[in-house]
Amino acid sequence: MDDRLDHLRQALRDSDVGALLVGPSADLRYLVGYHALPLERLTMLVVPAAGEPLLVVPELEAPRAVDSGASQRVALAPWAETDDPIALVSGHLAASGVTGERLAVQDRLWSVFTLGLQAALPDASFVAGSEVMRRLRMIKTPEEVRALREVATAIDAVHAQVPSLLRAGRTEAEVGRDIAELILVDHDEINFIIVASGPNGASPHHETGERVLAPGDAVVVDIGGTRAGYCSDMTRNYVIGELPYGYEALHRVLEHAQDTAVRAVRPGVTAASIDAAAREVITDAGYGERFVHRTGHGIGIEEHEEPYIVAGNEELLAPGMAFSVEPGIYVPDRYGARIEDIVVVTDDGVEPLNLRPHEVVVCG
Ligand code: ZN
Ligand code: ZN
Ligand code: ZN
Repeated sequence: MDDRLDHLRQALRDSDVGALLVGPSADLRYLVGYHALPLERLTMLVVPAAGEPLLVVPELEAPRAVDSGASQRVALAPWAETDDPIALVSGHLAASGVTGERLAVQDRLWSVFTLGLQAALPDASFVAGSEVMRRLRMIKTPEEVRALREVATAIDAVHAQVPSLLRAGRTEAEVGRDIAELILVDHDEINFIIVASGPNGASPHHETGERVLAPGDAVVVDIGGTRAGYCSDMTRNYVIGELPYGYEALHRVLEHAQDTAVRAVRPGVTAASIDAAAREVITDAGYGERFVHRTGHGIGIEEHEEPYIVAGNEELLAPGMAFSVEPGIYVPDRYGARIEDIVVVTDDGVEPLNLRPHEVVVCG
């Protein structure tokens, strides 16, 4: 983590940005390891292109900032209840000589703070923080890839046990509670659990509910958590008792589409081309209209981040990018299926991180 601020400063200089201003966000965690609460009291990391970074924090939050280890990476500037934190930020920018430059503001900073900064810094112009952060966040370091590999292994182990949880008569919610326990065996947090049975499987983000599993149900299980700060996300398809009519053929198409897309991943091709590779297989098999979402999303310290694997995204894949490849086919009122693995772009190709077989598993 310690060279991230150096890389950021280089990115600021390359983009001709005077400083980056970061409120509570994944970017703040990424840069200094501090999981700040989004509060009405301002927390802000100020990183000038040249000059020392400063972490402005409400005095009552300072102990949490210290506990996070952030104070070993940057100087803390705690502010008391009657202080003006915007003045602290603009004062540090003035000391760094960048008040008249382009300033990057983290994408999700609350408008009330952005407006305050704009009023206090009339000579500056403001750009989105992602202009300088997206490249840093997208290209994972070997240490980050290791963390993603480990959390992928952890979610693989959960899927290995899912067949023992699925049988007729249980509800999606009951299965979901068991999965929650299994996720926490080797994750720190549960991010989401989708157990979508029968017709519910046709809704890609179905809310796990009280539907009772029945023989002949297809069940989409899409689950993810966080381990050591990095996210997992993996989908497999299961069937209760017997395969419903038409499902086997549909699933074979999906396996072929997912596999084709993964094999297309290598440095120098566009994100859009990976989406096209999956979509072509599904369209050729006649299911094109039933593949209703993009093929994937980047993953790291957030469950969904750049690069998005979607038509129109001409971003060139580069070593260190990590993302999901998750085509799906959804047949309203009957069932759905999605196969999802996380992959990393390597120097000459791709490394899939989830290693469980893709075949539909017949349970119960
Ligand atoms: Zn999703
Ligand atoms: Zn997923
Ligand atoms: Zn996903």
